[in-house]
Amino acid sequence: MKTLIKNGLVLLRDSSGWKLEYTDILITDTRITSLLLSQENVPPAGADPPSLNSPLSSLNSPFVSRIIDARNKLVMPGLINAHTHAYMTIHRNVADDLPFFDWLDAVQKIEDHMTEEDVYCTTLLAIIEMLRTGTTCFVDMTIKSAQEKSGPRSAAAGAVYDSGFRAVISRGLAGVSDSEESLMKYGQAVREMDLFRDEPRLQFMHGPHAPYSCMPDYLQKLTRSARDRGIGQTIHLSESKAEMEGMQKEHDSTPIAYVNDIGVFDVPVIAAHCVYATDGDIRLMAEKKVNIALCPKSNMKLGNGFAPAQKFLNAGLNVCLGTDGCGSNNSLNMFSEMNAAALAYKGAARSPRCVSASEVLEMATVNGAKAIGREGELGIIREGALADLILLDLNVPQFLPQNDILSGLVYSSTGTEVDTVLVNGRVLMENKHLTTIDESLVFSACENIMTRIQNSL
Ligand SMILES: [Zn+2]
Repeated sequence: MKTLIKNGLVLLRDSSGWKLEYTDILITDTRITSLLLSQENVPPAGADPPSLNSPLSSLNSPFVSRIIDARNKLVMPGLINAHTHAYMTIHRNVADDLPFFDWLDAVQKIEDHMTEEDVYCTTLLAIIEMLRTGTTCFVDMTIKSAQEKSGPRSAAAGAVYDSGFRAVISRGLAGVSDSEESLMKYGQAVREMDLFRDEPRLQFMHGPHAPYSCMPDYLQKLTRSARDRGIGQTIHLSESKAEMEGMQKEHDSTPIAYVNDIGVFDVPVIAAHCVYATDGDIRLMAEKKVNIALCPKSNMKLGNGFAPAQKFLNAGLNVCLGTDGCGSNNSLNMFSEMNAAALAYKGAARSPRCVSASEVLEMATVNGAKAIGREGELGIIREGALADLILLDLNVPQFLPQNDILSGLVYSSTGTEVDTVLVNGRVLMENKHLTTIDESLVFSACENIMTRIQNSL
């Protein structure tokens, strides 16, 4: 099937960085197969785009099955949320303004009552929010594993599979390697990976929760398993001051140095937070090519502080961006997260030059793609890339006048400008209408789940 997106202003990227061009995009099945730049210069804001002259615009049926008119729209790569817990939509606004470990206790009580079906529904709620705010892929740390490929028993992976979305799923694992519960959860996680082995929109990682919640033998077991399966791991590291102090007291080490000694970094890793990373930790992570998922809003909300983002960038680390779960943010809106990242790290460093808009946009696109092993395929618009694209309405007050659209994406956008979303070449939202999910069913299911859990607490 061929889809043509025409008349749009397109956010492209080459070796010199971001650029905007009026470009027609031809998609064949799941991938971008042609980009035809207009021969004319980009017109000034408000002028009609010139792409009616583009050779691709003359393509008509039967060659093209679908034409999306992107006039007055910006076409850009879908955003990649590099760290979240999608099932936690149910934790939204239930444990706010609490210290980190009190918050963890409060969310745990709710989690203990969640079933596979609950995770399926609450993950669908997360996907709705992500679709409406321009995210097309997320790295999830979840609490249940699919027992079947589709439908209510299929947990987070099934919600992704059924909705047409894209994700990297990790089962959050904690404990010791030979405890009955740890073995059971590990077994469920690897069975789920096998269940979705041939599904191109789903990838998997191991998800050891954190060094304070996993014994060293469990971290080693998961690392060995990740190496054998050719997958990576994602883990929370150096998130809170209490974690730093606890690790110092018990192991005379930082959390980052501790997991490195255990071997966790011997496979590809996405380390979430790293708020308290020391200069030594940064050198170590650069050496091991660790990917970092910054979560500035979560870190601020839980009072954990500000990661040394500019130091990470200066050290050449691959820095991505995540929202964390709805219990600690409390939204999954990556435009809001980009805004927070650009502002928070400047404020913390007392420098307007710290973490530029362009760098933040890289974190949410190309760097996220690199972290999940899809560099050049996701987070970028180019021939051969997967067609995970979002269209934003430019005819909104927050983008006018169009002095600098790239800056506007980080400093002015609210995410509500997202109008149309494609994942893997398939339109999942068109003119703000979702094509694969019945929103009202998901909304009422999530309300019912929360009522049931609250009644049992
Ligand atoms: Zn997290």
